[in-house]
Amino acid sequence: MPPARWSAGKPEWDGPLTAPTGYLAQPPRAPPSSGVLHIPTLPTPPIDTIPSDINIPDNYVAHTLSTTKPLPPITWNNWWKELNYISTTILTVTPAIAIYGLFTTKLHWQTALFSVFWYFVTALGITAGYHRLWAHRAYNASPALEYALAAAGAGAAQGSIRWWSRGHRAHHRYTDTDLDPYNAHKGLLWSHIGWMLVKPRRKPGVADVSDLSRNKVVMWQHKWYLYLFIIMAFLVPSVVPGLGWGDYRGGFFYAGAMRLTFVHHSTFCVNSLAHYLGATPFDDKHTPRDHFFTALVTVGEGYHNFHHQFPMDYRNAIKWYQYDPTKWFITVCYFFGLASHLKAFPEGEIKKGQLTMELKKLERKSQSVVWPKSSNDLPVITWESFQEQSLTRPLILISGFIHDVSSFLDEHPGGRHLLAKMIGKDASTAFFGGVYDHSNAAHNLLAMMRVGVLQHGLELESERAIPPSQRLQIVRAVQIADLVRAAEHDERPGPADGRLED
Ligand SMILES: [Zn+2]
Ligand SMILES: [Zn+2]
Repeated sequence: MPPARWSAGKPEWDGPLTAPTGYLAQPPRAPPSSGVLHIPTLPTPPIDTIPSDINIPDNYVAHTLSTTKPLPPITWNNWWKELNYISTTILTVTPAIAIYGLFTTKLHWQTALFSVFWYFVTALGITAGYHRLWAHRAYNASPALEYALAAAGAGAAQGSIRWWSRGHRAHHRYTDTDLDPYNAHKGLLWSHIGWMLVKPRRKPGVADVSDLSRNKVVMWQHKWYLYLFIIMAFLVPSVVPGLGWGDYRGGFFYAGAMRLTFVHHSTFCVNSLAHYLGATPFDDKHTPRDHFFTALVTVGEGYHNFHHQFPMDYRNAIKWYQYDPTKWFITVCYFFGLASHLKAFPEGEIKKGQLTMELKKLERKSQSVVWPKSSNDLPVITWESFQEQSLTRPLILISGFIHDVSSFLDEHPGGRHLLAKMIGKDASTAFFGGVYDHSNAAHNLLAMMRVGVLQHGLELESERAIPPSQRLQIVRAVQIADLVRAAEHDERPGPADGRLED
């Protein structure tokens, strides 16, 4: 619901407290006493030409959180004073009417079909209209489509476009902080519905909606919101089944109240479920997640991890088989010339996000594996010392590394004798195809038997010296800097006169 007071003309953040205080439209003002018929409308906010966030300080979030005080926590003693009565009434009375209808009113199949149809019409008013068109400017709509979406969205009873978009832009900008009106860190119940049942504990973070104040359709809907809501939420869904097949009552209960309850909770799931359930294929810094089930109950808004990364993209689902009827609707409108300038993020940028998350997963996986010692961690041994120590333990040289094969002598698939005859010798040629072209697994296993490196006889930098499991590795950018530094001043330890590692 739009705030009753406006801070137009100056930056909102230091203006008067204009936090939304309700969920639906304010009750209309009393008509003037002049005797002239006056149709009550919502107060029209002056067109704010200055973006409300133009003068915010660089440390706005921290500054605001430290200098403003939230309302006190809700307790058993104060909850009734903290309730937002308008939205609480709407959100409890509507389902109560629906349940009453369910037990007292026969459901005709035509009414059932129409209710589903009206569910999609009003839900698309929110998803394709409020959300993707106005809050995110993901595409341009022709005036006809804009009016249709504005009217359809009013039938979903979620406040005016302007109010809704202001909150939603704050949600995106301050995700998971106390400046996010439906901060997911405050729990599933809070982000789903709690934030509307009580007075906002804090004013949502500043978010500019001056573009919407200049939009004719948005301001038209704002002005006539109350009437559009009554017409689209209850009148049309009662009259169409009434005139069509004589079912006014069923229309009111099923296509009106029941459908509205479903549309409400469907949209609310975008704030709750979409921040809890599913995967984070694009970014795991914040709570938004992708899940088919959320998409199913939200008319395609369930690929929320993608959406928070690429909010101005007209799609939520990028794959053709993912469920995103809102995207399909916008695409159809595009083909009919009703929508244009559909915004889609460059494919490469989307892939970067996915790749980052895949690499992160691989990095975690690789950290759970024991890796062979690198040449930097092993003693450097002279040829003479290698010869001498081979007399007391089975040491074999391959690609510059000295390996102790004592644990493997009897396990060697080719037989003990082939290993035994290479003790104290360089078996590189035999290992890499001379006798047998060893597999990835054999080479990986061999690297685990390293006990030293041979002075001078090294081919440590060659591909052959690196076990296959380590030829591609995830290295953090900061580690690369370390590696470059280490290469510049070769930090490898000098030849040791001592013993090889056990
Ligand atoms: Zn979100
Ligand atoms: Zn959004």
